[in-house]
Amino acid sequence: MREKDPFVLVVDDEEEMRFLACESLKGAGFSVEEARDGVEALSLFERRKPDIVLLDVMMPGMDGFEACAKLRNMPDGGQTPVLMMTGLDDIRSIHHAYEAGATDFVTKPINWVVLGHRVRYMWRASQTVSNLRASEAKNRALVSAIPDLMVRVMKDGRILSYVAAKGADPGIEPQDIEGKNLPEVFPELAEQALGCIELALKNGETQTFEYRVLRSGCMYYYEARVVVSGEDEALTIVRDVSNRKKAEEQIYYLAYYDSLTGLPNRQFLKERLEKAIYRARRHKEQVAALFLDLDRFKRINDTFGHSVGDGLLKDVSERLVRCLRRSDSIARVLDLNGTTVSRLGGDEFVVLLTDYSDIHDVAKVAQRIQNELSMSFKVGGYELFVSVSIGISLYPSDGEDVEKLLKNADIAMYHAKENGRNNYQFYTESMNAAAFEWLVMENSLRKALENGEFNIHYQPQLDIRRGTVTGVEALLRWRHPEFGLVPPSKFIPLAEEAGLIVPIGEYVLRAACKQVKRWQEEGISVTVAVNLSSRQFVQEGLLEAVSLALSDAGIEPGCLKLELTEGTVMQNVAETVSALHKFKAMGLGILIDDFGTGYSSLSYLKRFPLDALKIDRSFVKDITTDQDDAAITKTIIAMAHTLNLKVIAEGVETQEQLDFLYENGCDEIQGYLFSEPLPPEDISRVFSGKGVSVRARLAVKR
Ligand code: C2E
Ligand code: MG
Ligand code: MG
Repeated sequence: MREKDPFVLVVDDEEEMRFLACESLKGAGFSVEEARDGVEALSLFERRKPDIVLLDVMMPGMDGFEACAKLRNMPDGGQTPVLMMTGLDDIRSIHHAYEAGATDFVTKPINWVVLGHRVRYMWRASQTVSNLRASEAKNRALVSAIPDLMVRVMKDGRILSYVAAKGADPGIEPQDIEGKNLPEVFPELAEQALGCIELALKNGETQTFEYRVLRSGCMYYYEARVVVSGEDEALTIVRDVSNRKKAEEQIYYLAYYDSLTGLPNRQFLKERLEKAIYRARRHKEQVAALFLDLDRFKRINDTFGHSVGDGLLKDVSERLVRCLRRSDSIARVLDLNGTTVSRLGGDEFVVLLTDYSDIHDVAKVAQRIQNELSMSFKVGGYELFVSVSIGISLYPSDGEDVEKLLKNADIAMYHAKENGRNNYQFYTESMNAAAFEWLVMENSLRKALENGEFNIHYQPQLDIRRGTVTGVEALLRWRHPEFGLVPPSKFIPLAEEAGLIVPIGEYVLRAACKQVKRWQEEGISVTVAVNLSSRQFVQEGLLEAVSLALSDAGIEPGCLKLELTEGTVMQNVAETVSALHKFKAMGLGILIDDFGTGYSSLSYLKRFPLDALKIDRSFVKDITTDQDDAAITKTIIAMAHTLNLKVIAEGVETQEQLDFLYENGCDEIQGYLFSEPLPPEDISRVFSGKGVSVRARLAVKR
């Protein structure tokens, strides 16, 4: 389909001029309309919205300058190109025309053959500008910008005349240079200018060029246009576009780089990846996207403050860039302008690799990144350790476009997290289903508290020798309206990741304390152990939340125990010691959960004010079949006793396990052998003897 002809409004007081202009423009494929003076031009402009205005300067009544300035102030007048017709030698009126907002000018007498080309060129230029979606303000600034220098030059370089805007030139007076040679006075622009003058004179078209000058340590950018202004002479109009250039650079930087680390940002990454995919498709190459996420970065931010967090991100970025530079031998890192690594935001980075021979090379790069980041960082006087989880997706097998590749790398990264962090995972199809579920879960988890989808089950803990219930452990249950019961192993990590564990944990704490009160009212005296996740433990205000939960429920601190994992207490030993002492001073019990799975050493355990260790279920499971597990369990019991700690065995399911534990001096047990975690009303039955026959089983033993 052919587009509508561009529509030109021709404004001139002389009928002959209008006629010639219209004929020449129609011949060049424009549609035209005429106006006889400024006033008529403005009203036609408003009604007919021309694409271009050809405007005579000298007109009775409202002249061209005034008409142009008024037009620029009209609602749609900012963008329309205005070509002004001025007298040949009249440099000052050219200047004036620009001030009034003209886009360009032609000098009279007009070369009617060239006019059509000129107008079309201007029309195309204005289209390009609007295609570039430059903002209206920018367009306005562009079209109304006045030139800084105008030099009329002969073909041989002799300067005929010179006008400079105030403050725009390095102090040259017209009389100093008129009659001199261009190269003498403007060495920076002479060569380009003379080349363009020759061309302009040859084909009659405006020539443009840009140049820059280093003046007192500062780079200035200029844009020059050369138009024919007579036989063998041309007018060079120069604008200082330094501000625009700098603004463009700034805008480019803001749009494509991350201001904290100076690394390319998500947008840049997407464009780079797009190009890389395009190349790879043509050359049958591969591309790998490595999606990096620092492990537990939030904790560093929470603990040391954001400035330390930011400092760490900067250092991590530098280290990444450095270590990837060295990996050229393994695989080609997309290395144009340092675009190897980009930061997506937060603690997420993406590395792009191409040209590797097989995926082992990609794995090697992932390993190198992990090694490099595993060395400590010194930020703000702290020595910090980070690890990173990496998800990897490959083009073309894991996705043929940018979105898909990044999404799948992200999914693989989540699997690396689930896999215990500090590792890398290649994307596989099966991850996708899991990731989808994860996403859906996260959304519903956010609503679960409000919707009352949580409740708590309680699992009895028994004294192995007396057979009495010593307490219960509160275990959170989530009944999702669609998926049914979701196990804590699934939603607790999710809640931690999504930052929801703190409110959820508080719910458990408060509900458990209230339940203890209810049991007390039924005449049952019992302690409750509540699990605390590490995120909760580093949260400020935990102590207050705990005492509030106790006082609101109206129970003694002695009724509450906290279960912390080894990982949690080892996070920051000094702080933990002091926090635990505060809880201890309040009268709370403190247990180490899942003992044996972490890496706490005896010397540290001595420093914590603990009451008991809970041997992890994984040891108890094979206690009777696996010699190592048996030995470990015995050692833990012995060690705990030397530290005056009680030992509780979790996950006791069989009589054989119970026997082993009994014989080796374990103090308490918890497990399906006696009772699964139960709703609170069933716990009442356990106590009233109608529930699980605890004593019976242990009596057999004795
Ligand atoms: P945990 O604290 O080690 O809790 C013991 C887990 O072992 C519970 O799993 C319990 O149901 C299970 N268990 C008890 N006896 C047996 C047995 O004989 N055999 C087997 N196979 N399992 C047994 P559950 O309820 O699925 O909870 C899993 C983990 O989720 C808990 O491990 C705890 O780390 C976490 N969790 C549960 N509730 C909360 C909570 O309110 N807050 C936090 N932060 N974590 C919680
Ligand atoms: Mg526990
Ligand atoms: Mg446990």
